[in-house]
This record gives sequence, structure tokens and C-alpha cells, in this order.
Amino acid sequence: MPRRVRKLGGIFYLCLTVFLQLDLCCGRNPVRREMRIPDLDGRVTLKCDFHMHTVFSDGGVWPDVRVQEAWQDGLDAVAITDHFEKHVHSTDIKADRNRSFDIAKKEGEFLGVIVIRGTEITRKMPPGHFNAIFIKDAEALNQQDWRTALASASGQGAFIFWNHPGWKGQQPDGIATWYKEHTEIYDKGWMHGIEVANYVDYYPQAQGWCNEKKLTLMGDSDAHDPMHMDFSPASGQNRPMTLVFSEERSEAGIREALFERRTAVFFNGDLFGSAEDLKILFEKSVDIQKDSIEISRNRTKSVPLTNLYDLDLRLVRNGTDKNYQTPEEIILPARCTALFTVKALADPDSGTHTVSFPYKIVNWRPSPEESLPISIRLLIKPVPNGT
Ligand SMILES: [Zn+2]
Ligand SMILES: [Zn+2]
Repeated sequence: MPRRVRKLGGIFYLCLTVFLQLDLCCGRNPVRREMRIPDLDGRVTLKCDFHMHTVFSDGGVWPDVRVQEAWQDGLDAVAITDHFEKHVHSTDIKADRNRSFDIAKKEGEFLGVIVIRGTEITRKMPPGHFNAIFIKDAEALNQQDWRTALASASGQGAFIFWNHPGWKGQQPDGIATWYKEHTEIYDKGWMHGIEVANYVDYYPQAQGWCNEKKLTLMGDSDAHDPMHMDFSPASGQNRPMTLVFSEERSEAGIREALFERRTAVFFNGDLFGSAEDLKILFEKSVDIQKDSIEISRNRTKSVPLTNLYDLDLRLVRNGTDKNYQTPEEIILPARCTALFTVKALADPDSGTHTVSFPYKIVNWRPSPEESLPISIRLLIKPVPNGT
């Protein structure tokens, strides 16, 4: 190389180095949007997404991007679940089936996001698609027969769940259907959970099956494209999440909680879970700033209700009270305060006493048919009219 060219090359290299350093110094810092959800007593609530794809199957992003997206969305844990059988980029990317996890795991260690090894066992319906997570070796699931693949995953200690049971690609009417193959899988102990929510769909049948058959409620993004092409948290569109009530923030804690069915599903502003867990989340979410009122006949008083967390609440009155009139509907968005008004229709009972006003949270559902019943309790202090 001529000396002059070498010198110019040196200057170019120096400029590039300075530019890169400036870029690092002056670039905007990444921001994580923290999601606040109450903890249950003795547990920590972890925000998780156990279903996503990368360029190592039919996804559109490199594995470390999935972890960066999760970090930005305030998640605690993800599972990388590239299809075992479907690899549309195989001409360009030739690698072991465990490689996408290995790349993502490294980024997870850097950002503090727990990354779990998984794969999607992808078959026509029945039985459809299954995710096996906490596997040790994805390559060992290279089996012709789906029974052998599920048995192999189970043998590795995997937590296995049925994905998108009503996906229109396999169930054109969108209605999840339980086939005899699912009974076989369930009876053999190869099905531990079902996706009640996947991507933009909710499957009420799946929620019913989870309740009846004691399976774990799951809700995941099944992301293929870059996450924010499908979900925009800034506009209030969150990806579906599995909320895991874990003893600790660790992979082992998550695994134990999943096998013990300690989850709820956060989907499109709705929450699906056991009545017991949802009730605790409500009690911790809502602060009744003034829980006693002085009131007399035909007078109206209001009490501020503050939603301290990131779970929206839509309450509808669940019964009437002949002595008091309260709002038919209360909209209490995340981190907002709503006024709860009470009008005494008659002379209140004498003496200070507690009144429970029955409501149901229509976007929190323990079963497809049922909204969560709760009550708003106030201490009533009757005062004579005109005071
Ligand atoms: Zn699938
Ligand atoms: Zn998938």
C-alpha cells in the first residue's frame, strides 16, 4: 500500500474512532418502562413472556434484540422458543438449535433479564403447537413423531404448554377445540399449561380448561416481527404477559411457580387469574384515601379511590342498596384517582357502622363467564340533617 494511502487510512481510522467515541458519549440512553404490579404476600410478581421467535426460525430479529425489547417493556423474564421444525432463514443461518438461546442469554446477563431456554414443537392440529421451556438441549427434540418429541421434552424436565389453541391458521373459526390427542397428552403428564392469550387473541375455552383441569394460565406475545411493530406500550398497547407469583426473582423460582400454577395473564387491559389472587391484587392496588364519611339523608359525599399500580380497573355495581346510591360504573385507570360518590337515600342507621358496597371488576376475570366480585367498604358516621 503506498505511504500516502496508508497515512490517509490512518487519519480515517482516527476520525472513525473519535466519531464512535462521541457517539457513545452523546447517544441517548435506553429507557426501561417499569410496570408496577403488586406482589402477593411472600411472593414477587414477575412480568414474563414465554413465547417469541428470532431469525433462527421464522422471526425477524436477532436473539439479543428480544432481550432488549423485554428490558424496555419492563419484563423480568423471557423464553426464546424458536420453532424446531420451521427455519425460513436456514440458507443464511446454519446453527445448532440452541444457538438463539445462547446469544439471548448473554444479553440477558448484561441487562438483568432472565432468559429461559425453550423451543416450539410445531405440528398440525391436532395436537397443534407446544412450547417446551426449561429444556436442556433443543437438538434432542429432533424427533419425527410428536409423541416422542413431547416425551423427550418431558424427560428433560420441561414445562410444556399448548400454544394458541384457537389460532385461525389451524382452527378457522377461532374456537379452541380439545381433541382426543389432547386428552392423551394431558393424561401422560405432558401438558402443564395452555395459552389463554396469544398475540392479539384471547381463548375463553382455554381459560375454562385451565380451571377445570388444573393447568397453568399462560399469556404470551408469540412475537415474530420487532415487538414494537405489533405492540406500542406508549399508546397503552402492551404485549400479553404471564404474571408469575414467584418466591424469588430467579429462573428456579419461575419454574417452580409455573408448575404450581401461580400465574395470572395480563392481556389487552384485562386480567385473568384465580379469584383469590385477583382479590389480593385489588386490595393492594386501590387506596381508599378517606374510608369514613359523615352523611345525612339526601346528602352526597365523595371519597377518592386511587389506583396505585398499572392494572386498569373497570368496576360495575353488583347489586343495589335501599339506603345508599353509588355510581353504576367506576372507571379507575392505572395510577389515577376516581371519586366514589355516596348519597344517603334515607336516614342512615344510628351509630357509626361499616357498609360494604358490592361491585364487580369487569376486566378482571377468574373464569370466562365471571367478573371478579369485590366490595368497597366505608365507615358511615350518621349526622343529623342540616349539619
Ligand atoms: Zn405456534
Ligand atoms: Zn410461536
